[in-house]
Parts: sequence; C-alpha cells; structure tokens
Amino acid sequence: MTHKIAVLPGDGIGPEIIAEAIKVLAYLNTDMDLGLEFEQGLIGGAAYDATGTPFPADTVSLVQQADAILLGAVGGYQWESLDIAVRPEKGLLGLRSELQLFSNLRPAILYPQLADASSLKYEVVSGLDIMIVRELTGGIYFGQPRGIRELENGEKQGYNTLVYSESEIRRIAHSAFKIAQKRDRRLCSVDKANVLECTELWREVVTEVGKEYPDVELSHMYVDNASMQLVRAPKQFDVLVTTNMFGDILSDTASMLTGSIGMLPSASLDINAKGMYEPIHGSAPDIAGQGIANPLATILSAAMMLRYTFNLGATAERIELAVNDALNTNVRTADIYSAGMKKVGTSEMGDTVVKALQIRSK
Ligand code: NAD
Repeated sequence: MTHKIAVLPGDGIGPEIIAEAIKVLAYLNTDMDLGLEFEQGLIGGAAYDATGTPFPADTVSLVQQADAILLGAVGGYQWESLDIAVRPEKGLLGLRSELQLFSNLRPAILYPQLADASSLKYEVVSGLDIMIVRELTGGIYFGQPRGIRELENGEKQGYNTLVYSESEIRRIAHSAFKIAQKRDRRLCSVDKANVLECTELWREVVTEVGKEYPDVELSHMYVDNASMQLVRAPKQFDVLVTTNMFGDILSDTASMLTGSIGMLPSASLDINAKGMYEPIHGSAPDIAGQGIANPLATILSAAMMLRYTFNLGATAERIELAVNDALNTNVRTADIYSAGMKKVGTSEMGDTVVKALQIRSK
C-alpha cells in the first residue's frame, strides 16, 4: 500500500524544518517499509515568485491527488505589500477551503524537560498532553448575515451570526470522538448552552453522536469554565471539542501553556481524515536561512499525519518517543535553550531524532 504525501515547504524557515521531518519519515520508510511517497510542490511566497500566484494549479492538483499534505509555513516581509489576493497566506486559505478541512487539531504537549518554558508552575503543566479539536469552517466566522449597518436613529450597529446546522455539528463530533478513541478516550465538549441556543443544539447533537461511541467518556463544559480550567488544572483534559470561535481562543491559551512555539504540531482534517499537517508557528523570517530553527513541531506534525491519516499510531508514537529521547540527550535549539544544555542547529536536531529512532529499533 502506498501513501502519497504532498510536501509543501513554503517560505522562510519552511524548507529547513521540512527537510528534517522528511529525514525522519524517510528513515522510518526504509526501516519499516511504510510505502510513503513524497512529491514536492510550491505554496505561498515561493509559489508567487515562481508563478505569480500563491496556490498554483500544479499545487492544487498535487494536493487533490495526495493522501496527506505536509506543510512548512508561508509568508515573509518581501510579500507583505502585495495585493491581498496574491499574498502567501491566501495560498494556505485556498488549500484549506479546496480540501474542506473542517476539523482542526491542536495538541498542547509539554515535555517535562521543557516545563521551565511555561509561565505556569511545573507541577501544573509537566507532562501535559491535551488535544483541542476546533470546528474550522463554520460558526460565527462564516455565518450570514453579517456586517455593520446604520440604524434609523443614525447609530451604527455591528452584527454577526452564530449558526451551526446539525450536520456540521455531527461531523465535527464524529471527528473528535474518533480522535478520543486514539487517545485516552475522554472527550469534553465545550459550549455556552446556558445562553446561546446554537450551542444548546451543539450539546444535544454531540450527546446524540456520543451514543455511537460508548467507549469514550463524554462530558460538557461551559466555555468560561473551560478557559479557567485550562490554566487551573489543564491535565484534567484529554480531548476538547468546540466551535470555531471558542476553539480559536482556547487553542491559543492551551498552546501557550507549553511556552514553546517551536514544539507544537497541528492537523486539519476533512471528512475522510485526509489532512494537512503543519507546525503552529509561522515562517519566522527573522531567523530564516540561519539553520537555527527548531524542527520538532514539524517532525511532530509528521507523527500526527501517520496517526490520523495513515492509521499508523504505533509508528507515530515511535517518533514522539524519539523526540523525547532527543530532548533527554540535552540538545536544544536556540528557542528552547537553557543554561547547561547543548545548543544545536536545525539539522543536528533532526539527526538526533533519527539517531534516537535507530537506538530504539535495536
Ligand atoms: P512566527 O511564528 O513566524 O514567529 C514568531 C517568533 O517565533 C519569531 O521570533 C520566530 O523566530 C520564532 N519562531 C517561530 N517558529 C520557530 C521555530 N520553529 N524555531 C525557532 N523559533 C521560531 O510568527 P510571525 O513572526 O508573526 O510571522 C512571520 C510570518 O509567518 C508572517 O508572514 C506570517 O503571516 C506568517 N505566518 C504563517 C503561518 C503559517 O504558515 N501557518 C502561521 C503564522 C504566521
């Protein structure tokens, strides 16, 4: 069986970090005969420079034919003055909507070795491993009508619409339950059902879908309480599922619990778990080309790809354990460096992960 991966390095540090993720995947591909096939394409500023558009037709057909997409990052100073329609970020938005990636997975994982990087106390965050599943293509960010209108008395009024249909709730609920099944089998659905009818329906539909997953323990929490619990006792959660706007806010809070942007992967999935996998950080133009970027978020994104699109959970875990082993050797890229550690560059960090995989396979 072959697994086709579209590789889109993008801009800035994108090519540097993607090279390390490919190094890790290529090692496993040979070691375990995984059947991974890689094909590179252009996206973002690099695509604009070569073709005049950030999401060229060749890349559209590449991602359509692929089973999964591994992306670096897009954007950079040199493209900031371009017309908004051809800015690098448009390439990313085009990709998300082209593939109908409605389920956004944002894990917040804190390796104990890096617990000092968090603004919270060691015992509150050490070993943290939670997953936020955010609905990405509906809700108040897309609801109609929306706008700013003038009232009869001449006053201006801004308005947006929070809207979710049963089918939209059902598909994100299924996605979240399936993810919980691959983890600790606990799902907390976050809403504001005491005030918003739309999320009253959310709660009703999630509860109904939950009957199909008796192996997953479902709970519900209001969003204000969830935001408080995330900073009070985040380790109580396994998987959280929520609306587009609540997820936008809660996932940023959760990712910052870990304090290290260079460590966090993400995934955006469609209805068949075809997905796009990318680090949560951007193209870091301030350090691009210097060989000092942290590749671990991208390597961990590759692990998510194996787990969620290719159903290779055990192999994904091998990568995650290897990242842990690499940190145990005290190597650190500049962004996670602390006194007494050995500072390394992007490529050496990738090599250390591969070495850790080799040691574990002996
Ligand atoms: P950024 O995430 O690129 O960088 C923020 C800070 O974190 C910088 O100091 C950077 O050096 C550091 N950093 C980020 N990733 C790192 C890594 N792997 N290792 C070490 N340090 C790292 O955010 P920004 O500076 O606001 O944005 C830069 C560009 O990236 C912009 O053009 C923005 O539009 C784009 N962007 C793209 C994505 C994406 O591709 N998904 C996401 C966010 C921002």
